[in-house]
Amino acid sequence: MGLTATSPESDFPTALQVKAATTPPPSINPYLRRPAPRPLPDPEVLFAQIQAGDTAALSRGITLIESALPAHRRLAADLLSLALQNPSKAIRIGITGVPGVGKSTLIEALGLWLADQGHRIAVLAVDPSSSVTGGSILGDKSRMAKLANHDSAFVRPSPTGGALGGVAHQTRESISLCEAAGFDVVLVETVGVGQSETAVYNLVDCFLLLMLGGAGDELQGIKRGIMESADVIAVTKSDGDNRVRAEIAAGQVRAALHFVAPRASGWTTDVLCCSSQTHEGILELWTAVSRYFDHAHGQGLFDQRRREQAVRWLRDLVEESVLQTWRSKPGRAELQAELERKVRAGILTPRSAAERLISG
Ligand code: GDP
Repeated sequence: MGLTATSPESDFPTALQVKAATTPPPSINPYLRRPAPRPLPDPEVLFAQIQAGDTAALSRGITLIESALPAHRRLAADLLSLALQNPSKAIRIGITGVPGVGKSTLIEALGLWLADQGHRIAVLAVDPSSSVTGGSILGDKSRMAKLANHDSAFVRPSPTGGALGGVAHQTRESISLCEAAGFDVVLVETVGVGQSETAVYNLVDCFLLLMLGGAGDELQGIKRGIMESADVIAVTKSDGDNRVRAEIAAGQVRAALHFVAPRASGWTTDVLCCSSQTHEGILELWTAVSRYFDHAHGQGLFDQRRREQAVRWLRDLVEESVLQTWRSKPGRAELQAELERKVRAGILTPRSAAERLISG
């Protein structure tokens, strides 16, 4: 009878009791059919679609890269081998800055301008918040709506979950797929608040730091190391009342950079102001980035940086694989829990526990 019958004690049904005559609808739609899982595509067919500029195929490829399922990972590896056999001439630019500095607005303005110049733009994100919370500061799709809908652009929200190293690793692979799809400018966006910019630095050819006028470095969470590794620095929102503040800030950044050891390559970081609202300074920003690329090519730095990144990629892959093999050892999790309990209780030193965990 349960909730469907009227209580014998009362003629008045309570909120939980409905008249027996009323048959409640089933809680599960009996006509609902679960869609059969999509069969996995043939890697060569999917890759050909990606190369032909099919962005749905590209999205699918990136989803496979981000998947943890072994079958997906294998397919992703096949796709990547195909991508790496077809090297492209694309350039990769990292864009970092604190939340609110104007990254997405600038990427959209710059991206639309570049698209007008005949470029094809892909935007990827590395979001440290996603590794911690599973949510994201960067990932929502409403950002860069105009660019995302442009025929010459591809905007991919950041992958969620997983360690930052893993997310960066996936982004590296996604960059290769975007390049195989014919995108010649790849912009990798990240929040400049922690380790993510170091991770992104190792993925790109040129690193662009965005700063706000009128806010101290501490307030912006900008670490000196980031300023030192930036190839170009732009003070954003240089419009209206903020223009003077932006100019002053740019002057201060230039002065601060005098105290930074000069780059071995001889490159002096360009510092300029720009506004995504008035578009003033956007052309100058691109000129500065292009100047950096001319310099990097001229000095052989471009290829050197890519080769170093390839070696780092190899090391990351080895570390990841060793760790995965170790994690999947039978009984490892139980042993770890037991040893952690002993370390917490002060019965065992962390070193002895680590030795047993690694050898056992
Ligand atoms: P993000 O978090 O770094 O991606 O920052 P957003 O691009 O979302 O921008 C944060 C806020 O700053 C938004 O309200 C933008 O409208 C505003 N903004 C971005 N660029 C400019 C600019 O060039 N000038 C002005 N005045 N506001 C801007």
